Amino acid sequence: MKARAVVLEKEKHPVNLEELTVEALEPDDVLIRVHACGVCRSDRNVQMTGEMVTLPIILGHEAAGVVEDVGGSVTQVEQGDHVIVSQTPSCGHCPACVRGKPYLCVGMNPSPGGGRLTRNGEELNRYMSIGGFAERVVVHQGQAIKIDARAPFDKVCLIGCGVMTGYGAAVRTAGVVPGMTVAVFGCGGVGLSAVMGARLAGAAKIIAVDTAPAKLEIAERVGATHSITAEDPVSDIQKLMGGGVDVAIEAVGTTDAMLKAMKATLPGGTTVVVGVPSFADRLNFSPFHLLMDRTLRGSLVGSEHPPHDFPYLVDLYLQGRLPLDDLVTGTFPLDGVNTALDLLDKNTTIRSVILTA
Ligand SMILES: [Zn+2]
Ligand SMILES: [Zn+2]
Repeated sequence: MKARAVVLEKEKHPVNLEELTVEALEPDDVLIRVHACGVCRSDRNVQMTGEMVTLPIILGHEAAGVVEDVGGSVTQVEQGDHVIVSQTPSCGHCPACVRGKPYLCVGMNPSPGGGRLTRNGEELNRYMSIGGFAERVVVHQGQAIKIDARAPFDKVCLIGCGVMTGYGAAVRTAGVVPGMTVAVFGCGGVGLSAVMGARLAGAAKIIAVDTAPAKLEIAERVGATHSITAEDPVSDIQKLMGGGVDVAIEAVGTTDAMLKAMKATLPGGTTVVVGVPSFADRLNFSPFHLLMDRTLRGSLVGSEHPPHDFPYLVDLYLQGRLPLDDLVTGTFPLDGVNTALDLLDKNTTIRSVILTA
């Protein structure tokens, strides 16, 4: 069987659409006909830096589609199931899994098996054990999360990374509960999903911060009660909130935004860093900030539990409670991935989705 897939050969270069061979399945493999895959900033980071991966690699990691075939040991899904692909399969018995943090699983990182898409007999690497910019992917059964078949792939594919990351940063990592005040720095796909998560969790006030007025308009539509465009939003937040917020979520990926988010929190408050910095970045702040009972922490894919969270978020979307339609600003065919990746450098795009079927 053949599948076209988008391959990055060399950093700082455009990607190529190539026809690959899908090899026979191993017992735990699931073959998925991909229908849609969101274009995430991390794909762009890999394209421009080549960091954290081995090239050549199939890009894309926000995929959803239909199960086409399964290996002999697969019990989680069957042919015809609609699935969202998870980047964090979990083994269930490593120290992280038994402590309730399957997204930090060390037993299946990197994901075993799968990936049997070859070029001239050579197996290609897949970004985040997925490689979703492709007509087909082969993943471990722990990565194929069954969802309601009524859900449109071109919207719910975003749950696989950006939506889960933002929603989870607010709900799972920060633990927003009713009545809390929340500030979200950066209103791209992740930040807007954090706004949605904070609203679903019952936040009393949600302040969206971005330099692009168009993104703030969307933020208000999906749940922000206030929006701020100022260059230095900290004093505005302090004035508006009587000193600061309970939770600040940083979804920009710069140290400047991280420090501002920290300054915007009240004593006892929590700052969650979600944005991806560059390797050379360093944070410089006085530890006295933390002495005031503040917490600074990171969040990996929103501290996700995919088998629970993915179907749940799909249900919320189908019920009209998770407005994913507001996140999709464009769709492209597989041969339009270069255009979609270039668009990430413009401040007008929220999420582009690659349609592969
Ligand atoms: Zn991503
Ligand atoms: Zn594990």
